[in-house]
Amino acid sequence: MEKSPSTSDSPSPFGVLQNLRPELPYPNAALSYWHRTTRGFPYLRANETGPLPTTMPYAIIGSGLSGALTAFELIQAGVRPDEILILEAREAVSGSTGRNAGHVRPDACSGFNDYAAIHGTDEALHIVNNERVVLTSVQQFVQKHNIDCDFQPKQTFDVCLTREIAQDEMDNVEQYANAGGSLDHIKLHEGDAAKFRTGVRDALTAWEWPAASIHPVKLAQWLLTDSIEKGCRLYTNCPVSQVTRGENDKWNIHTDRGVVAAGRVIHCTNAYAGALLPQLSAMLLTPIKVQMHSLIPTQAFSGSNVLKTSMALRYEKHRYYALTQMAVDGMIIFGVAKPSGFTFDETSYTDELVMEGLEKFDSLFPRAHYQKKRHGEGLDHAWSGLIAMTPDKVPYIGEIDGFEGQFICAGFNGHGMARIFSCVPGLVKLVLGGSWQDTKLPESFRYSHGRLNKALAGDGL
Ligand SMILES: Cc1cc2nc3c(=O)[nH]c(=O)nc-3n(C[C@H](O)[C@H](O)[C@H](O)COP(=O)(O)OP(=O)(O)OC[C@H]3O[C@@H](n4cnc5c(N)ncnc54)[C@H](O)[C@@H]3O)c2cc1C
Repeated sequence: MEKSPSTSDSPSPFGVLQNLRPELPYPNAALSYWHRTTRGFPYLRANETGPLPTTMPYAIIGSGLSGALTAFELIQAGVRPDEILILEAREAVSGSTGRNAGHVRPDACSGFNDYAAIHGTDEALHIVNNERVVLTSVQQFVQKHNIDCDFQPKQTFDVCLTREIAQDEMDNVEQYANAGGSLDHIKLHEGDAAKFRTGVRDALTAWEWPAASIHPVKLAQWLLTDSIEKGCRLYTNCPVSQVTRGENDKWNIHTDRGVVAAGRVIHCTNAYAGALLPQLSAMLLTPIKVQMHSLIPTQAFSGSNVLKTSMALRYEKHRYYALTQMAVDGMIIFGVAKPSGFTFDETSYTDELVMEGLEKFDSLFPRAHYQKKRHGEGLDHAWSGLIAMTPDKVPYIGEIDGFEGQFICAGFNGHGMARIFSCVPGLVKLVLGGSWQDTKLPESFRYSHGRLNKALAGDGL
């Protein structure tokens, strides 16, 4: 895996984004811990050579959680599996689904004030409550289908490490409660109670609520397997370069391996969506590179000491460290949640952030005795992934105006694991002719050119 140069001297984000042209996925993207532990997936490089079918009623671009669940939901809704094609630029599940923090972690309400400022109080409530519903949906889905994806319900904490962030979180909770939001599932720990409950010696306060950890690639691979074994076709190593208007209300999907005429095209391409939909410039769908690490635990975090909770260790709203530990192998997944560049490059990581992550883990958890680790303990791997941000902080879901028959499901602002299980079922209703009301999604998620123009004008943002 390549290392990238330090980004500390980066010019202003506005200038960088104006000049950043959306690109297709890099073919040599590095592997994450999730990828390295699932190399035996039989459909990893399914149909990686050979021509494509020339026509197909439904074509999904992207094989991450959004694409995989879209195929599954279309089949559930009665579409014949052999009428569905999934086109993936690289190996199956090679994007953010395979690079994330392994959390299904609804935002309890720390984003409430930001959502309310942009979308109004009622809509902010709907947005926050939508994430909570997804945790239950994922849990029920995994249980119903008995999916081997290391899903583990656990309590999670927002651990506040500065007075400013403690106050900010308190403000958000108060505003959320004043707006009628339910606090039934949220607990506050302060002072020594926060230190004791979280095991973090510098904790000032901690908010606790239910979440889960998961092996995201295993979940997406299960979904792909289920659809493929019913007859859906996945073509990997097949980047789509363009979608153009075809005959008879179809769209022509262009690849190096041929052109497919599709009745319905569903863009599940996450941070890369702008490469095929030029209206989604990097200003409107911003790829932010974030770095993750897997650590082999020392004795203090292994065996019966494996953490049964997860946490975001917060210094500032957008500077925090994400921590979860997998029950199966005890691997600690530790993320340095701050941007390490605006880019489409998932091939590299920086030593600077590795050092920061290890030092931070050590100082936050001195009991890990990280300095005295044995050979074999400590850093296992580092990788990066792209978070797809939107200016109004909510995803783009729905049909693309002016491009009837093309749909999008992207821009999860780093919350896809906590949103896709409501967004995709909603999107599939639209693909099959339903109305926006049928989706039951927050109105603010609805894609429209008006929404893009409003964001470009900075209106309300
Ligand atoms: C470091 C990191 C940590 C995160 N942590 C969390 C978390 O803790 N909780 C949470 O809820 N979310 C988290 N997220 C966000 C979450 O991972 C994403 O929102 C989610 O995985 C998006 O899934 P997706 O299927 O939409 O996109 P992806 O998984 O990115 O899939 C898109 C796929 O489309 C393919 N593709 C793109 N363009 C083309 C093309 N032109 N032709 C063919 N194929 C194409 C890509 O190769 C890719 O495989 C994190 C993300 C990152 C990067």
